[in-house]
Amino acid sequence: MVPIVKKSRIFRSLFYLAAVMGCSILAAGIYWYAGKIFQRGISCKNCNVILVSLDTLSADNLSCYGYEHNTAPNLCAFADKQVNFPHAYANSTYTLPTHVTMFTGLYPSTHTIQEVGTKKLPESAPFLPSILKDNGYRTIFLMDQYNPHMPMDTVYFRGIDTQFDESTVPWSRALNEFENVIRRGEKAFLFIHSYYVHPPYNEEDKPASYADDDFDWIFLRDSDKTGNTQNFIDFLITALQHNLANNVPKDPARHRALLDELTAGVGNIITQQKALSRYDAIVKEYRENYDPLIRLDPADPRQMSYFKSVYDERIRKLDSGPLRELLSFVQKPSVAANTIVIITSDHGEEFGEHGFISHSTLYNPNTHVVFTMGIPGVNSRRIMEYVQTADITPTIIDLLGIHTSFVFDGISVARTLSGGRLLRRMLVAESARNITLRLGRWKLFLDKSGIDSVPVELYDTEKDPKEQINLLFSHFRFAQNMLSAYKRQIHEITPLSF
Ligand SMILES: [Zn+2]
Repeated sequence: MVPIVKKSRIFRSLFYLAAVMGCSILAAGIYWYAGKIFQRGISCKNCNVILVSLDTLSADNLSCYGYEHNTAPNLCAFADKQVNFPHAYANSTYTLPTHVTMFTGLYPSTHTIQEVGTKKLPESAPFLPSILKDNGYRTIFLMDQYNPHMPMDTVYFRGIDTQFDESTVPWSRALNEFENVIRRGEKAFLFIHSYYVHPPYNEEDKPASYADDDFDWIFLRDSDKTGNTQNFIDFLITALQHNLANNVPKDPARHRALLDELTAGVGNIITQQKALSRYDAIVKEYRENYDPLIRLDPADPRQMSYFKSVYDERIRKLDSGPLRELLSFVQKPSVAANTIVIITSDHGEEFGEHGFISHSTLYNPNTHVVFTMGIPGVNSRRIMEYVQTADITPTIIDLLGIHTSFVFDGISVARTLSGGRLLRRMLVAESARNITLRLGRWKLFLDKSGIDSVPVELYDTEKDPKEQINLLFSHFRFAQNMLSAYKRQIHEITPLSF
C-alpha cells in the first residue's frame, strides 16, 4: 500500500515567523504583507497548457537572467514580454528526479525516484498528466521515448493520450496535434522535452566565432565511435585512469595492463592500436560508453571557455530553430487566447566553476533554471520571489481551477501574478552527495541528507552569486537555525513507499 504523501506546510510558516522574530516589523507592515499573502491569484479556468522543458539549459547562460551574451533572443523576448521568475531553482540536477518533481510537485526525497531503473512511480502519487486527464484534458507528450532518464514504463505510463518520440518527430507535429485538439473544442495539455542543449556535441556545433580549435576532440564523431582513432585512444586512457582510481573495473589487473601499454605507446598510434587488439573485451566495453567530454579538465580555463562556447552555440540553435517555431505558434490568436505557456529547464550545466563539469553539484550554474510563463490576460512582469521546480504542478492546477486532495511539497505561485507574495519558505535541492537549503538569498550546503547532516558551506547568493565566499563560520548560528528547521521538516516527510 502506498500512503498519500503528507507533509505539513505549517513548518514553513513557523520557520518564517521564527526567522523574522526579533526584527522590527511594524504592525502596518505585517498587515500589508498578510494582505499580499492571501491575495487571490490569477485564474485561467479551462485554459490549455503547453509546458516545455529545455533539458540542461542554465539560466546563467541567458541574457534575460544576466548573461553577457544574447544566446537566446527569442526565448528572452518571450520572458521579457510575459512573466519571468529570475529566482527559479531546480530541486535536483539530474533529468529523472527533476522531471518527476516537475510532474508530482514532490521533492526527490519524497517521490524517491532518484536513480535510473530502480523504482516505479506509484499510481497513487500525484502526476500532472493524470490529474489533467481526469479533468477532461487531452494530454500530448513529445519526448525521447527510449531514454532511461525519461522512462515510459516506470514514470510516464499513465495519463498520456498521445506520445511522440522527440528524437524522430519534429516539434511541429506535436503542435499540430495540440491545435487539432483545441479546434475540436477539447482542452489540451502539451509537454515538450528537448535534449537539444545536452551533450554530446557534434562538429557542426563548433562555434563559428571561436578561433581556437585545439579542443576539436570534444565533438562526437562516428569515426571515433567505430575505429581506433587517436581521439578514441586518448579517451580510453583518461577513462581507464579514472575508473582505476575509483576501483570500478572488476578485473583491475588487465585494465591496468592495457593502460600501461597505451601510456608507453604515446606518440606512436600504431603501437597503441596493436595494444588495443589484445584487449577486445575491454575496448568494446569502453567504446559503448564513448564520451569525449571525459577528457575535459575543469581546471583548464581555455578548455572550459571552449566547452561553454559550444554549449552557448547549442542554445543559439535551439532558440533560432524549434523554440522560435514554438513561440511563433503560441502567438496565433486561436492559441494565445486561452493557452498557458510555461518554459522551464530541469537543471543547468557547470563549466569548472567549482571543479566539476556537467551537472552533478548543487551550485547555481546547475540549479538556476528558466521559469517563464505566458498567461492570457497577464502583462509583462518580473517576479522576484524564490520559486522551484516543485511549484510547477501546483501552479498549473491552481491556474486551471482544479482541486485535488494531493498535498505537494511545492506551492502554487499563482498569487504572485497579481502582485501577491509567497510565504517565505525554505527551498530544498538534493543530490547524491549534498542537500542545499535556500532561504531567500541564503543558501546552505549540508554534507548529506538526513538527521546526521552537518552544514559545510553557506553563501549569500545576492552578494556572491558565484558562491565563492563561504560564510559558514561567520554566520554559524544562522546556519544552525536553518539546519534545525530542516531536521524538523524531515521528521514530517513521509516518503512514498513501494
Ligand atoms: Zn536533464
